[in-house]
Amino acid sequence: MVDHDNSMDAPQKTLSGAPTIAAIATSPGPGGIGIVRLSGPDALTILNKLFVPAKSPTTAGQFTSHCLYYGWIFDLKSGQKIDEVLAVYMRAPHTYTRDDVVEIHCHGNFLILQKILTLTQEAGARQADPGEFTKLAFLNGRIDLTQAEAVLEVITAKTNEGLLLAVEQLKGGLHQEIEAVCNLLISIKAIIEVAIDFPDDDLDILRPDTIIKQLKQEIIPVLENLLSSADNGKIYRDGVSVVIVGRPNVGKSSLLNSLLREDRAIVTATPGTTRDTIEEYLNINGMPVRVIDTAGIRNSSEMVEEIGIQRARAKLAEADLILMMVDSSSPITEEDVQLFNSIKEKPFVIVANKSDLCNPKAPPDLEEHFPGQAIVKTSAINGDGIQQLEDTVFSTVTSHFSGWDPGRTVAPNMRHHASISNALVSCNDLINGLTSKLTPDLLAIELQTALDYLGAIVGYTTTEDVLDKIFGDFCIGK
Ligand code: GDP
Repeated sequence: MVDHDNSMDAPQKTLSGAPTIAAIATSPGPGGIGIVRLSGPDALTILNKLFVPAKSPTTAGQFTSHCLYYGWIFDLKSGQKIDEVLAVYMRAPHTYTRDDVVEIHCHGNFLILQKILTLTQEAGARQADPGEFTKLAFLNGRIDLTQAEAVLEVITAKTNEGLLLAVEQLKGGLHQEIEAVCNLLISIKAIIEVAIDFPDDDLDILRPDTIIKQLKQEIIPVLENLLSSADNGKIYRDGVSVVIVGRPNVGKSSLLNSLLREDRAIVTATPGTTRDTIEEYLNINGMPVRVIDTAGIRNSSEMVEEIGIQRARAKLAEADLILMMVDSSSPITEEDVQLFNSIKEKPFVIVANKSDLCNPKAPPDLEEHFPGQAIVKTSAINGDGIQQLEDTVFSTVTSHFSGWDPGRTVAPNMRHHASISNALVSCNDLINGLTSKLTPDLLAIELQTALDYLGAIVGYTTTEDVLDKIFGDFCIGK
């Protein structure tokens, strides 16, 4: 069905009644196109104030919803033509926010985008806050909170596997699993409420054994399974951090360069990188890996060196895996052994570098110093052993995550994980309460607590500060 809307009519009815907001929706920097997006009751009125279609629609100001119109943006005060654009009006409620939405597709020049944004503001829109379009989509009930979070994950995914998880969550995979558990808990709640209303027959109505069985067989295993699948999210979505340590000149920087061969690199230098550690992202079998080279520590003056060592220690503490590098063309030194002793509590791999310089007739005494450890021989100069090192990094990291399962597509994040853990505690408390014959009103409180924790995941019971935190991580225009 085609909608025709006339700007001269009363503004279209929208769901939220929120003010009209506007923002640049595309990333900064020159591009083929850039988009200014508006959402709210005055979006169409504002479009009509700025946009002059090349071919006038039959009635001035009339737009068919969800159709692109070719024309020009004008600064009507000065009469200046700003840019040649395509404009689209999307009538509520079939829009991203469920309010009226307008998009102006102009050339991707920051000056043009900024000028059009200013014109929308002069015409009555206010600058959108970070994530406000997605927050509206959530508040207006088009998506739940897990899907809103997935929007950010889709935008920032670093590997195909991370993207798959994000898209699955955007489709509502996690929402459905949580909702299914909530529905089971609600059906138990209904029974408990009847028992509250008929206190004399409460045990007959409650049938605690049946509820306990349902909790143990249908609810708790689902929650436990979700908890363990958070490891997939950690590996494929958040990524892992790998720190390279070793004596000076063993080849740490050369290894980082070798790992960063172009087809592996996700991005180059990370903003905010400190001078004493170098951080780069790699894609190892779909796992985003932040590799941190602590090589620079020794090259600085004493004062800076001290700060550098502290930072390197902090990086070591956070590391999911340590690559302990030695020079296999020369004997292992006391310094190597000391370093090894200081890191061996963490997951690690010994990297025996400079294999190209080794004398095949006198192999290095690695086994003697590092008995039973995973040792990978590499040459950072000619690339020998680098693929094997990547495979070892992947298998060592995944073996430390008990819930890692490449086949799973639902992966709770840390926020969901905390809520699911709490809901699980409440479910177990409920079992204890049923076993010890607590009164139905006390059982109802326990059950409601579990429901509240699960409701916070999808956004039914989420507090305002948590919402602010979630949407505050978005960029403006999303
Ligand atoms: P770092 O101080 O541990 O970061 O060591 P660098 O990466 O700066 O390397 C120190 C020196 O060893 C440089 O001259 C490198 O070219 C050299 N080097 C690094 N890895 C290898 C290797 O696998 N084989 C050979 N032959 N030389 C290497």
